[in-house]
Amino acid sequence: MPKSLPAVLLAFAAFGTAAAETTADRWNLAEIYPSVEAWNADAAKLEAQMKEFAACKGRMGENASRFRQCLDLKADMTKRQHRMAAFSGEQVSEDTGNAAYLELDQKADLLESRLNEATAFVDPEILHIGKDKVAQFLAQEPALGIYRFPLEQILRRAAHTLNDEGEALVANFGLMNNAGGSAYSILTNADIPWPKIKLSTGEEITLDASAYTKYREAQNRDDRKRVMDEFFGTFKTYERTIGINLYSQLKQDTVYSKVRKYPDSITRALDRNNVPVAVFDTLIRETNANLPTLYRYFRLRAKMLGVPQLHYYDIYPPLVKGDFKIPYAEGRKLVLEAVAPIGKDYVAALTYGLDHRWMDLYPRPHKQSGAHMDDYAYDVHPYVLMNYNDDYESVTTVAHEWGHAMHSYLAQKAQPFVTSNYAIFVAEIASTFNEELLLQHVLKTAKSDDERLYYLGTALEQLRTTFFRQAMFAEFERNIHARVDKGEPLTGEALTKTYCDILKRYHGAAEGVVAIDDAYCVEWAYVPHFYNAFYVYQYATSIAASSLFAKRVEANESYLNMLKAGGSNYPYELVKTAGVDLATPAPYQALAARMNSIMDEIEAILAKQKK
Ligand SMILES: [Zn+2]
Repeated sequence: MPKSLPAVLLAFAAFGTAAAETTADRWNLAEIYPSVEAWNADAAKLEAQMKEFAACKGRMGENASRFRQCLDLKADMTKRQHRMAAFSGEQVSEDTGNAAYLELDQKADLLESRLNEATAFVDPEILHIGKDKVAQFLAQEPALGIYRFPLEQILRRAAHTLNDEGEALVANFGLMNNAGGSAYSILTNADIPWPKIKLSTGEEITLDASAYTKYREAQNRDDRKRVMDEFFGTFKTYERTIGINLYSQLKQDTVYSKVRKYPDSITRALDRNNVPVAVFDTLIRETNANLPTLYRYFRLRAKMLGVPQLHYYDIYPPLVKGDFKIPYAEGRKLVLEAVAPIGKDYVAALTYGLDHRWMDLYPRPHKQSGAHMDDYAYDVHPYVLMNYNDDYESVTTVAHEWGHAMHSYLAQKAQPFVTSNYAIFVAEIASTFNEELLLQHVLKTAKSDDERLYYLGTALEQLRTTFFRQAMFAEFERNIHARVDKGEPLTGEALTKTYCDILKRYHGAAEGVVAIDDAYCVEWAYVPHFYNAFYVYQYATSIAASSLFAKRVEANESYLNMLKAGGSNYPYELVKTAGVDLATPAPYQALAARMNSIMDEIEAILAKQKK
């Protein structure tokens, strides 16, 4: 779960701090495997296990002990393959130019697909064995207890599974899956000739997606307007083609929901993790109810940028420039102090990880950009890749990624391998909650009002992009999927019109809050997530949940239990058990309240500074 850093930050991350790097700043991958020989030995072991596993095919239902033996072997193989992938994958991310490790990582990929093939019969076979016999096995063999929930997840699919002939047919058509998404990816990454433009600084840029995210933040207003005009102008040229692409993806989702006997696309998508559709509906309803909070932010932004009418191209430049430095020693201290409310054990575990080389800290030539957490080495510990750049953004990234790392650490300690892996729906709560605690802490420790303004401005922007913008995307998805489910055709033009209505409503265009040129309404064509149906809403629900958890931080016991539960229950249930029901308005209201209190603080500082 990488936290995407703005391109502008990555550009600055160029090796400035490598000179100060010591062994303690590098992660220790030797804990996964001391040598490539040891990795190869595990590969040989996995090969042998796959041969042994072939004997399970068609025989898993013979008796309870046979059933358990096969499930144990499958879990052990998967755990081994994950550990191998963690080693080869992270060796590559620490040095993307290392040919020997690139080859090892390709070997890991091949082993993964062979393992998938070797175990592909398992789920259908469990469905054949059926609920009653599985229940009988569970009663006979206590050691099967750890599989109770994973088995329930497989058996739940029975109602959406066809007979053998039907399944074979579906599998064959599966070869044509995701053609729309693949074509979109090639089109936007390779084929579209992005325009070259000259900025007011004299700088000449090729305006592709990464240049767009960097230069839409330009301080010069004419520059950022040009950037948006040219970028969306290019998408407009491809509106019809991208429209057909997305429409084909939507139709694919409709067909699958019909074949799998779901009432509609959204029910099928959310059923993967058993999330009630009510969560999605509550998110959209509450977001719309709280749009005045977003409008307040845009009006404040207009004031702080000094523009009489905010335009869509004015929403990205930072409100306050934060050029003060935070070296890692200080950043680490801030994060540790910030998470103190979660409890002593949490702080102790985090300190231990930070002290024992679980993280690769600084940027280096050929190192992978951005940041991510890797928890694939279940028997070792999580690893964190950073590109720490001595600024506040880096500190928030440390808080975020270690939120994931501690989640994995606690879940892996408390859960057997088969129920340790948690869903995205919960994952981004663990990370954004830490970011919220960090914000609360730095607001207390800030040395000046300007510094405080910077933190507050950053937090506002995060709430806009992680909550409101993702909810807007979610509402768009809901609308277009529902129409295709009903058999309505959708062209690029129709998609633009639908997006335009939603975009203008979210930005208060009718109320004069943000002026939106119709030329920007093709923005839907720029969002790759629409090829992954009903995914982004989880960013919005997560940050809403963490807003409510932050208000109840004294109840940290139930929060910690949610982290420790890993993937041992459905994610909506886990969050609800911890005290936050995402199908009710409370978490969304907490988020709006938090955004308003941030704006109260900003306005108080501005009034003091007489701006
Ligand atoms: Zn994350």
